[in-house]
Amino acid sequence: MHLLTVLLEAILLEASVQAVDISAKKKSGGVAFIGDELNQTPFPEWLTDFTGMTQWPGLVPPYIPLDFIDMDKIPDYNSYSQGVCDANTRDACSFDCDQCLAHDDISTCRKLSQTFDDGPSPATLKLLDYLHHKSTFFTLGINSVNHPDIYHEIQDAGHLIGSHTWSHAYLPSLSNEDIIAQLEWSIWAMNATGNHIPKWFRPPYGGIDNRVRAISRQFGLQAVLWDHDTFDWSLVTNNPFKTEQEIYNDVALWKLVENRGLILEHDGARKTVDVAINILDLLGEDQLSVSECVGGIDYIREF
Ligand SMILES: [Zn+2]
Repeated sequence: MHLLTVLLEAILLEASVQAVDISAKKKSGGVAFIGDELNQTPFPEWLTDFTGMTQWPGLVPPYIPLDFIDMDKIPDYNSYSQGVCDANTRDACSFDCDQCLAHDDISTCRKLSQTFDDGPSPATLKLLDYLHHKSTFFTLGINSVNHPDIYHEIQDAGHLIGSHTWSHAYLPSLSNEDIIAQLEWSIWAMNATGNHIPKWFRPPYGGIDNRVRAISRQFGLQAVLWDHDTFDWSLVTNNPFKTEQEIYNDVALWKLVENRGLILEHDGARKTVDVAINILDLLGEDQLSVSECVGGIDYIREF
């Protein structure tokens, strides 16, 4: 089941990335958004000084070396494509391959709580109208700089914002340098857009192993996975895993049986936002943000 999820979501992302490459226009149903450049987060001077660049990168961000990253601390596991789970021994502790969690991974919560990945997107605004408790959004850097106004709405509503990488890469497939690039550019996007540096990080597709962790920890990031998956994203594919009603049945059961945990949802598309609003209706507002779940801080730094 899990392997299939990964493959299907990969196909979805692939389709969305291709559409973006070809049309270079906004795509509301996909993962990465090419925004209205006039409304982009301005590329800050400090980042030009640091990178020599004057514009935000595209879907493949360049690797900029950082003093504080010690490459010797990164274990030498093999990279692997999504769903190819025999590249390393089990001690690589892959979440998506083996459901392995490290001691510092967060995957649950004492209250059953929704979390939202892949925004900010135009669909996020509708969700914000309905959310009256503090919730958690894992944003893509590229979407954050392309939708700074929506990012600010999330922030102003008091929600917690974490990193979901720059452009939704499956990190275990990348070189160490490219993993660093995905993380550093997402952090710079959040810094430039929201004036804060994230503490919480959700790897796209749950793609994390001890090599990825050894890098993300050097940024001070802590990984947040999940223990309840709605498969909401599959509703916008040709082969949904579940009907909408089956998703609601799952949520009702989770609430009835255990009433604790972290639910994986998405605010990248109108459909998944509509589902999220119905799930919110089922669960009510007695939910926590990830930082509240673990009694942790919201951000490493706020400016
Ligand atoms: Zn995602």
